[in-house]
Amino acid sequence: MTIQERIAQNNATHIVHQQELLTLIKKANTVYNENFDDTVWFERSIFTNWTCAIADCSYCYLSTKPKHTPGSTPTAIRSKESIVAEAIICKHMGWRVGYITGGLRVESVNQLIELTTLLKKVTGKKVMMNYGPFALSEIKKLQISVSGMGCAIESFDEELHSFICPSKPLRTLLLFLQHLQNENMEKLITIILGLGERKDDVFRVIKNIKQYKITTIQLCFLKPQENTPFATVPPPNMKYMAWWIAQIRVECPTIKIKVALVHERIDDFSLLLEAGANCFSRFMVFKDFASDFAKTLETECLKANRTLQGNFLQLPKIDIATDITTYAFEKDFERKVEKKIEEYYQRLTKCLV
Ligand code: SF4
Repeated sequence: MTIQERIAQNNATHIVHQQELLTLIKKANTVYNENFDDTVWFERSIFTNWTCAIADCSYCYLSTKPKHTPGSTPTAIRSKESIVAEAIICKHMGWRVGYITGGLRVESVNQLIELTTLLKKVTGKKVMMNYGPFALSEIKKLQISVSGMGCAIESFDEELHSFICPSKPLRTLLLFLQHLQNENMEKLITIILGLGERKDDVFRVIKNIKQYKITTIQLCFLKPQENTPFATVPPPNMKYMAWWIAQIRVECPTIKIKVALVHERIDDFSLLLEAGANCFSRFMVFKDFASDFAKTLETECLKANRTLQGNFLQLPKIDIATDITTYAFEKDFERKVEKKIEEYYQRLTKCLV
């Protein structure tokens, strides 16, 4: 059997019966209410680059872009001021910075320390990074301004993982999680449903969450990318996603479960909250703000009896000139950040009309 045939066979296990789901969600909802309040919030993933030094994970958008040569000066990289300005906008909108992310091995460790130190001035605490595995020596250096790190675990099935990510072996990801655990740092894993997992792989994931004391799990749907072997693989449905969330919530009562929003399926978002999700990512700020999508998002949160934190339809006034002085940035950098905040604020203002 080829790997593609195996993926198709595994995808055929993704069936969730209505009664099975309802019983499970009821249980998960009880566990959620015992451990969390009624809030739900948005965690922005701030991208710092759009290239990767690995660039061959077969499902990933960055595998279709020019590869970065490690050690060379990166060109497809964002300016520090735009990243910091984005974090400041998030703060004023009531959105949290989930992590900084992008392709692996693009910025140097020193560049990441500089960036996360600047972000710490904005958020008031160390930030998370989600690029993939780092060596122990690098983790130790980054600890100064980073609270934790994450990686996508494409599959806990070693053979399938080697097919999906030929240059990013599963064992390096597990070793990375072990290092983070030894260093007592926060740990985030991302699971992409639809990448060839079996339904009952959720129990393998739960076992690993417990073993590595994972603090956050992010669940995403496969978004088939053109020019990848997954281009025609159908993504799974919301009931299947809810089933995964509920299984994890029941077995791991205090873990933070984050889900990536999917535009075409926002009408069923309440199901994911009822199953025990805490927060969400992939609200496309400059496209979704003040849109019908944002209205539906608010309605779905209400439907699940959850209070949505932050602004999705209203734009608060920001005194940018005063606010920018509170972060004690170096003057030249402060001016650059201020300009970027104004630019982003204008873009959000345009969404209102
Ligand atoms: S290492 Fe990460 S960013 Fe790079 S190709 Fe693989 S999944 Fe994409």
